[in-house]
Amino acid sequence: METVLWLAHTEPDGSLPKGALEALTAARGEFAGATLIAGLVGHGLENAARQIAGCGAARILGVSGETFVQSRYASDAAAAEALCRAAGAGVVVAPGTSRWLRALPGVAFRLGGRADTHATRISHISGVPAISRWFYRQRMEATLTRTQRPWIILLDPGCYAKYDGAPGAAAVEAVSVAIPETRTSAVGVQSPKAEDQTIRPDARLLFVAGAGWTKKQGDGAAHPEEAEALILGFLRASQASLGSSKSLVDLSGEGQAVLRFMTHLNQVGQTGSTPRHPKGLSTCCHGEEPHVVGWRFVPQRRAVNLDPNCGWARGKADVLYVADAFEVMRRVNALLERT
Ligand SMILES: Cc1cc2nc3c(=O)[nH]c(=O)nc-3n(C[C@H](O)[C@H](O)[C@H](O)COP(=O)(O)OP(=O)(O)OC[C@H]3O[C@@H](n4cnc5c(N)ncnc54)[C@H](O)[C@@H]3O)c2cc1C
Repeated sequence: METVLWLAHTEPDGSLPKGALEALTAARGEFAGATLIAGLVGHGLENAARQIAGCGAARILGVSGETFVQSRYASDAAAAEALCRAAGAGVVVAPGTSRWLRALPGVAFRLGGRADTHATRISHISGVPAISRWFYRQRMEATLTRTQRPWIILLDPGCYAKYDGAPGAAAVEAVSVAIPETRTSAVGVQSPKAEDQTIRPDARLLFVAGAGWTKKQGDGAAHPEEAEALILGFLRASQASLGSSKSLVDLSGEGQAVLRFMTHLNQVGQTGSTPRHPKGLSTCCHGEEPHVVGWRFVPQRRAVNLDPNCGWARGKADVLYVADAFEVMRRVNALLERT
């Protein structure tokens, strides 16, 4: 019977990231009859071990120490490699965090195995583990298996429910690692102020702003300052996540009036991101295919556009409001202020 290693790193505060708990649900639930082993990397693993005490793991292995608090390829890869060797698992299930996405493919190479990133589901084909994965910017879904072991599967966030078992007492078996020589040291953390943070992966709503916000309007003038105020006002009140079309984020390069808080990280679409939010509202965006392909995982969609023939009208949105987005968002913001 297969042994499955669930491999997670803790956050610097010792907690487990949400994606790690989702990956644990997959590791527990998708390999009936397999032996589950938990592998933890970080510092002060006691809290994390307590949190997963009831998950049914036969062993909880840990690599712990100051060196493993910060994300760094050399130390992360060394820790993950040691845990994989200690567990001797055929399949490793790990969350697709930026930290693991960077380190684990190299670990698979060191172990003579294979890694697959962006898996969205684990299943079985004729009794053999299989994963689902989207290709060509979420236009095609494939289900694939591998013969090589260990097979490291990095799961995308939002595909499984979080493991939510009762905490309890749990002992961590320490796995020793020869700390590799490192050239990178963390000297501090710089992050944007909370109110500047417009990308909120866990938000219920994705609000997309398109290039129309900066275009000349009915009065013959562009109104980027008002656009900025309306969009930021809505984001503040709704706590929605902000997405953009490519045209809007590219405008800064062309020296046109731009929304100052918009960066290429906000871009949704074929050459942008494919976020997962339950609902989406598109404003001043034409709804062309290279943009809408990034909405693959947004099930409920609405759009506001002056043009009744825009792409959203062609089956890409559930509801299209043929209206002036400035007018609509002024009213929406006024309603939100009242509540
Ligand atoms: C290889 C390739 C990859 C690409 N990748 C991406 C990608 O990842 N993401 C992406 O977004 N695009 C991508 N594109 C570009 C894409 O094809 C479109 O050019 C882009 O999405 C258009 O952006 P837009 O709809 O904001 O702007 P526009 O096409 O300029 O549309 C602006 C819209 O605003 C509306 N409007 C104006 N004023 C108002 C108002 N007051 N109220 C309501 N509506 C108003 C107009 O009617 C118009 O429909 C890619 C293209 C290629 C070729």
